[in-house]
Amino acid sequence: MRTLLLSALSATLTCPVMCQQGPVPVEQEPRHHLVFKNDAVMVMHVTVQPGDSTLYHTHSHDRIAIGLSDSTIAQQEWDKPEETPTRSTPGRVSARQEDKPYTHRVHNVGTTPFVVLDVEILTRPANPTSNAAGPIAAENPSARIYKHVLAAGASSAMHTHERPYLIVAATAMQLKITAADGKSSGHEIKAGEFHWVDGRVTHSLTNEGPAEGQIIEVELK
Ligand SMILES: [Zn+2]
Repeated sequence: MRTLLLSALSATLTCPVMCQQGPVPVEQEPRHHLVFKNDAVMVMHVTVQPGDSTLYHTHSHDRIAIGLSDSTIAQQEWDKPEETPTRSTPGRVSARQEDKPYTHRVHNVGTTPFVVLDVEILTRPANPTSNAAGPIAAENPSARIYKHVLAAGASSAMHTHERPYLIVAATAMQLKITAADGKSSGHEIKAGEFHWVDGRVTHSLTNEGPAEGQIIEVELK
């Protein structure tokens, strides 16, 4: 009995080392930090240091990745060789449809930390709207992504979101948001900051800072 207990204990202790090669759900991957969750979306802030790699982890929802750093990474799907390295830059957006669970890991093969915001759509809209708020930078069956690259002093067109959306700063910026009635508000934002808006909104975005800035909007379909 004592021997059994001891071997069970020793199995538990060695498990983090011995069992780590199996995939974990993305929420349990230690470099993915859950920063927001509601019925519709789950947002994870991910940092992978140079030379480091995430564990193999599984994504089960349509998702959008928004790059926040200039880095070089190599992806590796479960049971496949590591892919050719690719560069990720601030504001680089990818929208994936995960109609079946997708397991991979991400290896930082460069010299700078890899930072990305992973937005997973938990509730797939039953009746998608066909009205987009503007030019679509990327999309999947659950969301449309709009990208506003604003030079110093520049404004986006006035546009309307008919669906809830997540507004994300891909770079630091002094952002002014102007509503349809002309009222405006100023926001000093850092790269990676975001805000969930649940309602119909008409607005334009202005970069009041001295350098180019990028805003990404992830809108439910
Ligand atoms: Zn907008």
